[in-house]
Amino acid sequence: MNLPEWRTIVLRINHRPERDKRLTTHLGLTARAFGAQGFWITGLRDPNIIKSLLQVCCQWGHRAFSIQQKKSWRECIRTWKNKDGEVIHLTMYGLHIDDVIPRIRASSLDKLVVVGGPKVPGELYTLADYNVAIGHQPHSEVAALAIFLDRLYQGNSLHIVPDDAELVVEPTAHGKRLQERTPPKEDKTVQ
Ligand code: SAM
Repeated sequence: MNLPEWRTIVLRINHRPERDKRLTTHLGLTARAFGAQGFWITGLRDPNIIKSLLQVCCQWGHRAFSIQQKKSWRECIRTWKNKDGEVIHLTMYGLHIDDVIPRIRASSLDKLVVVGGPKVPGELYTLADYNVAIGHQPHSEVAALAIFLDRLYQGNSLHIVPDDAELVVEPTAHGKRLQERTPPKEDKTVQ
């Protein structure tokens, strides 16, 4: 299966452990399962989220998936742009995905996909290279991210089975079947 050469990292800004635990975890799971190469978080530190995502990477593979707590979203964006990457902010106020996805796919630049929380700083709208709407109705950051990545990878990422998985699903019409594998030994450490 041919996946594009650029890297995609998803950045969740302004995480609040009390209220966003599940949503942020689901964003990380979605980023990994839908083809991104990493998931970065800014806001309050929440080691449990990082721990549970690392555990998923160990069991289901993709140990190279970058999971990082970052100090500042502004700094992430600045560094990303300095390294010639582009920044895509998902917001219902942006341009419709159908109108911009061909341009984003055609660009060879690495992609930082930013998803917000309850309060998105106004500055983000001007710092982003693209403000992309998954329709113009309010819904969920998880839904927005899943649809964006699916369009970005044109559905191909849903066919990935990581080489380093310990657990692999054997699809069945009814019931559950899992294959257990022994992946190459390698420690995954928190960055
Ligand atoms: N009031 C927030 C704002 O100022 O944008 C929206 C909060 S919404 C629950 C959280 C995040 O979900 C947004 O920051 C955005 O990343 C994403 N989101 C929600 N609906 C979206 C849509 N229609 N298109 C793109 N992203 C969306």
